[in-house]
Amino acid sequence: MTAAAASCYCGTIQASLDVSNAGALHCHCSQCRRLSGAAFSTWLNLPLTGFRIEAGAADLRAFAVTGSSTRHFCRHCGAHVYSSDVREPDIIGLPLGIVTGDGLPLPDTHYYFDSGVPWCDVALTARKAGGPTGLEPLD
Ligand SMILES: [Zn+2]
Ligand SMILES: [Zn+2]
Repeated sequence: MTAAAASCYCGTIQASLDVSNAGALHCHCSQCRRLSGAAFSTWLNLPLTGFRIEAGAADLRAFAVTGSSTRHFCRHCGAHVYSSDVREPDIIGLPLGIVTGDGLPLPDTHYYFDSGVPWCDVALTARKAGGPTGLEPLD
């Protein structure tokens, strides 16, 4: 077992994960873009048996994205905690940005890349910034 954890922004929702059989991907589809507000979403997919809500289950809310896909989010901070799909009931997807732990899989594919936005710099050729403010040049 490779353990990891997930938390919403405010910390109300806490989950434990077994990422031994997890995979990761970037998705540029319009649904992911509109739900995240970002150029693409990065997902961790794992067997449902490797996912457990440890705290805050009563504070989860659900939004039916499509007839089969549901987004589950924290009612306090609005953070997307996981998505489920009735077409794949044994798999769960989490935004990788809410997950912490060692041994996380690296995203290996950009899905829907051809429907992505033209301003997405996936080659990471743009300048890089960081430091305490996040804005200081690193290059
Ligand atoms: Zn929250
Ligand atoms: Zn998508």
